Amino acid sequence: MKIKFYLLILFFFLPLSAWPWGGHYLITTYATEKVTWLNQFHEIRVTPFQDFLSKAFSKDFTQKDFLNQYQLNSTYKIDYKHPLNGTIDARSILIAHTDEPDWGMDQNMDISPDQKFMGGTIGPTSQAFRHLYWKTWSLKAPWRTFHIPPREMGQALRRAQIFYDLAQTAFEAKQPYWAFRFLAWSLHYIQDLGQPFHSSQLLTPKFIDWNSIFNFNQLIKRTTQIISNYHFLYEDYVVYKLEEEAKHPSDTPFISILKKDTFTYSSSAYLIARHSADTSNRLSYSIGEACFTFFGKRFLESAIDVPHSPKGTFPMKPFDETKELSSAKKHLFIQNTAQSLEKTGFYTRSLLELAKEEFLSTDLKNLEK
Ligand SMILES: [Zn+2]
Repeated sequence: MKIKFYLLILFFFLPLSAWPWGGHYLITTYATEKVTWLNQFHEIRVTPFQDFLSKAFSKDFTQKDFLNQYQLNSTYKIDYKHPLNGTIDARSILIAHTDEPDWGMDQNMDISPDQKFMGGTIGPTSQAFRHLYWKTWSLKAPWRTFHIPPREMGQALRRAQIFYDLAQTAFEAKQPYWAFRFLAWSLHYIQDLGQPFHSSQLLTPKFIDWNSIFNFNQLIKRTTQIISNYHFLYEDYVVYKLEEEAKHPSDTPFISILKKDTFTYSSSAYLIARHSADTSNRLSYSIGEACFTFFGKRFLESAIDVPHSPKGTFPMKPFDETKELSSAKKHLFIQNTAQSLEKTGFYTRSLLELAKEEFLSTDLKNLEK
């Protein structure tokens, strides 16, 4: 009974990493490569944000009003990656801005009671409540749906829909640059949800520090640390592997699977985000188990703290080249991750197809007017 009680309150305080996948731009680059209809949007004028605000809202609507209306960090500055008033293609806008929701817009706000369970209200982890979605705890999948309180938590689904709607507003206001920029923001949340460490809090019971089971504070501290260790290693590895594959195009399991052209027709950004979260949650137990095998037991040790170690402390190359792991086990890890990336690419393309169907018109001449 006592153990059960501990388990129920264990994850009350778990903080979270706020950097899923590490580099959304890589995912967007490869996942949109075969979305050839995007090529039609090759000359889009980079218009000032105020132009969009004036046309979509009212003449006097300011950036401050916008941040306020969409509950974004009031100090966030909407900047430009491409020269203002120059032209740029739609794919480049998407690639440059899918990472943008990680640049501070969702941080340092105190607006949801869920934040105290999902990374707090201050600093980089304070954006977690916006970038996660945990489905309601289910007896059928007790580990991968485990979190406290056990109800549905996290705003990522809603944020995907909000920015999708804003993209439509921008397109209809003849502001295509802002339409693609907001679509990139919407894609960010959908891609975040494709990362199993962000659709499940625990993944596998192997991440619990069973030695501390009768010391509650220690149990929380150590289990938090263990999950964070594997979480950060996993994200580092995926980025490392994608960059390696780009350099050596002969063996590219991750890039090839991202580059597929498959998608599904859906009815809303919210539903696509929900599918993305559910699919990765279903994969999360096997990813958790595969991470444990691939990176090894040593990251259970209390002396190892991956998130707070200087960058480069745990290089990824040795994991990739280790002889200690059987090739079958390594293959399983790669296969599980590839499956997760495949779905992330799939839902990325599905959102773009929905936007194409619902509002993206290729009649650019009309847009210029
Ligand atoms: Zn994010």
